[in-house]
Amino acid sequence: MKYFLSLFLIIHSAYSFTLNESKGRGFPKNNINIYIASNDCSGAGFSTNKLRSMVSDSVAKFWNKVSTADLYLDNHGIKDDLDIDGLTHEQAINTVVPLNSIVAGCNDDASGFNDPTILGSASIICESSSRCRSILILNSNNSALNSFSTSEIEAVIAHELGHAIGLGHSETQHSLMYYSTGNKYQKWLGQDDIDGVTYLYPHEQEGCGFLGNMGATIKLDDKNDHNFPFSGLMILSFGATLLLFRLLIHYREIFPIKLN
Ligand SMILES: [Zn+2]
Repeated sequence: MKYFLSLFLIIHSAYSFTLNESKGRGFPKNNINIYIASNDCSGAGFSTNKLRSMVSDSVAKFWNKVSTADLYLDNHGIKDDLDIDGLTHEQAINTVVPLNSIVAGCNDDASGFNDPTILGSASIICESSSRCRSILILNSNNSALNSFSTSEIEAVIAHELGHAIGLGHSETQHSLMYYSTGNKYQKWLGQDDIDGVTYLYPHEQEGCGFLGNMGATIKLDDKNDHNFPFSGLMILSFGATLLLFRLLIHYREIFPIKLN
């Protein structure tokens, strides 16, 4: 019992990430499509095509790099018929965002963008656990983004993408999802960001026993490791058997078998 209690306390104190779960708790799929809205970004100091490339670089530098999470944000580029001009988050989600996708774009007159110091915002809405949509809007209304470097804008995009995939703000100052960007320029994810995205998008197969390991086989096979399916499965099954033996021994120590 003491064992479990101390473990609980460690877990409880180790995380300070929060979830953006007022309207959903992250996408049902780990492979999430991103579409770039065709709107003009010139009020923010860059072209729509530049936004496309910054979104790609941002996901590559931040969220797609987390080895403990099974998340892949896939940028499909600019969608010509995708127009978010003047739409609030909710309106955009209800009218233009494809199912289980994120739309990112510029908007110069969304409500709340009358203040140039607001750089952007994002939200996720899930109708059910299998149907989510997210919108990420950058402020192109003479926004302070004009004075930002490409890398700084990529960090802003990464922070908003964090909200779009289901994360809320973190209390940890060194994390990307810290609530205030202030003058800080975040170049990488903090441990708290990594913990958050790993919690929302875990590798499905971890700790699931034999059938779970078969799932892992499929994933590694996707990465062209064609030797893994047989030998990897055997190693994992051997590991699972060892673990089972250890648990049995442990069980007998705690509850010694009594003979009448
Ligand atoms: Zn935020």
